[in-house]
Amino acid sequence: MSTVSVVEPDALLDGLNNAQRLAVTSTTSPLCILAGAGSGKTRVLTRRIAYRAATGDLDPRHVLALTFTRKAAGELTARLRSLGLREQVAAGTFHSIAYAQLRTRWAERSITPPQLMTRKAGFVIGLLTGAEKSTPGIDFVSEIEWAKARMVEPEDYPEAAKTAGRKPPISYEATAAIYARYEDQRRQKRLIDFDDMLRVCHRDLLSDDGFAASQRWRFAHLFVDEFQDVNPLQHALLEAWRGDRPDLCIVGDPNQAIYSWNGADPELLHTFPERFPDGETIRLLDNYRSSPQILAAANALLVGGRGVDHDGTQSATRPDGAIPSIRELPDERAEAAAIARAARDHHGPGARWSNQAVLVRTNAQLPILEEAMKSAGIPFRVRGATPLLDQPEIKVALSELRRTIRPFTDAIHDLALSVDIEDESESDRAAERRANLDALVQMARDYIAIETPPTANGFFLWLTATTRADQPDPNGDAIELLTFHAAKGLEWPIVHLAGLEQGYVPIGHAKTPGAWAEERRLFYVAATRAERELLCTWAKSRTFGERSVPRERSEFLDTYATACEALEAGIDPIAVGNGTTAPHLAPTSGTRSSKPKAKGSKSSGGRKRPGSYPDSLEATDHALFDALRAWRSERAKSADVPAFVVCNDHTLAEIARQKPQTPVELLRVYGMGEIKVSKFGGELLTIISGTLGS
Ligand code: ATP
Ligand code: MG
Repeated sequence: MSTVSVVEPDALLDGLNNAQRLAVTSTTSPLCILAGAGSGKTRVLTRRIAYRAATGDLDPRHVLALTFTRKAAGELTARLRSLGLREQVAAGTFHSIAYAQLRTRWAERSITPPQLMTRKAGFVIGLLTGAEKSTPGIDFVSEIEWAKARMVEPEDYPEAAKTAGRKPPISYEATAAIYARYEDQRRQKRLIDFDDMLRVCHRDLLSDDGFAASQRWRFAHLFVDEFQDVNPLQHALLEAWRGDRPDLCIVGDPNQAIYSWNGADPELLHTFPERFPDGETIRLLDNYRSSPQILAAANALLVGGRGVDHDGTQSATRPDGAIPSIRELPDERAEAAAIARAARDHHGPGARWSNQAVLVRTNAQLPILEEAMKSAGIPFRVRGATPLLDQPEIKVALSELRRTIRPFTDAIHDLALSVDIEDESESDRAAERRANLDALVQMARDYIAIETPPTANGFFLWLTATTRADQPDPNGDAIELLTFHAAKGLEWPIVHLAGLEQGYVPIGHAKTPGAWAEERRLFYVAATRAERELLCTWAKSRTFGERSVPRERSEFLDTYATACEALEAGIDPIAVGNGTTAPHLAPTSGTRSSKPKAKGSKSSGGRKRPGSYPDSLEATDHALFDALRAWRSERAKSADVPAFVVCNDHTLAEIARQKPQTPVELLRVYGMGEIKVSKFGGELLTIISGTLGS
């Protein structure tokens, strides 16, 4: 076998810990590397390719490294080059590789390539009849994409969608009929959509032996990063590429599975040992990205959540840093301005803006941050997201605004009212569309405030200038603004998390336990992007449509804030999250005895002054809340632990509000795990019945 590397194999093991070395040098295949965020999974994946090339165990020209975004694929290629691989290793997304292979096959067999469908929503709209037309095409597109990712045919859609708890815009059967029509028409017109690239490549590999043999020869060694987000269609394709050869290495983290809503199946990672009994699973337990404080708070978030499985707690290796801060701001504008100020404060002499990123849950939250950065004169870049102006609903709204002969302010008022109507049963995509339109309405208000008379054309010009025109050049130094999803796999020294409110984190349409757990993992992904500092903010009110809506702090921040408070007190935050009081500090041996240094920005997360009551509490519940607090003080004193270790204020307030009568009802209160109920349940129920009876 020809090797092209001149790098000494041993040099490729430098800067790796024992478990990482084992993962790089293991001769077992298939190999699964399972580890938390920042543990070096991507580093190990690239080192393993380079190491095996250096030892002559593989020819890098026959390696296929798969990831989920083009950016990540570019990153892999760059890292491999820096490791001395002069030959080009193929690194790409499932789609890019499948499409390239199909194009080769079509060319070799003189098959006229089908056309790529570029406007899916428009295509679907053309298929709708009667009452279906009142539903936007994009809502059906989400369902069709989900079904294709799960390899669900139209006739099987109703049952599969019901089982998965999908909420199609119309009945399951009617949605299936539209899906069937979509497939028929698409075939008749010889069109393929994005997902068909994978499906057709998979089908051709199974039916065309020559094609399969040539592709399997070309890519003899398969590597997959972020495996927890593989969907069944991608997995089937991976298996078709692999054939009966064992050379596969996958890396993943079940706690970072954030694409189940879109058809990904984290079970594929969980079931790896059963599917490959001869394979090996290696775990990495040290974290190299985040400070002990950030890591401890993020780990507590996972462990504190009920129903989230966590495979061993990571240890931090980085030096101490600031305890994550949580700031409450009066509204979204104040929040955006505060983030811009904080970004400037953290921009020391000689530092790069690109050391910092602001992460948000939805695309619609980005424009206000862009405006704030611009006013503060901070160069910014928006990454990964489809720009707001390119969203289909925004294009439609803008073209309607330009066509209407009514005064611009009236048209915006009506648009705001239509955005205001929230449908409890709306789909994910419908909610996203509403949020995007709402962002447009808020920007229209800004424009109306500065222009007399405001016009649709004037707004359009202002929008284009405001949202994109003065972004710095794509490679210049800039702070990055992006969504939690787009931040997957990336890292920055300083990370700002904005809009940590109920409705965003977790997102309002996460109504099932599964969707809710995915939101919690998504917050974990976002929090673990930070290396040195993590600054969390939320706004007490936000303008939606015509209304200013009061907002509540994200419930996920409860366990998180408790963890931060525990860190300040030098207690293991994981133990607090579990309702136990193990006395050691989790992060590293280096920090066990030393109290972490808070750099001025202390967590204020949810702590109430004595005598004050949480806003959520009615005056009639104050007596019970006081009684619960008195009980907690006693309990804490007798156990010699800080009060919040027994129960935090938020949980006590919830108990006072809900007044549970039985242990089961008590268990339903957020923050009450089984351990707490078995330990304190009897006492709490007695206090509740005593106060209610008096
Ligand atoms: P994620 O789950 O977020 O994708 P990951 O497990 O892929 O994270 P990497 O991105 O590979 O983690 O590594 C996180 C950071 O730690 C990177 O900056 C990497 O270079 C660094 N790193 C990894 N292992 C080591 C090590 N042994 N020594 C020093 N730095 C390391
Ligand atoms: Mg990674």
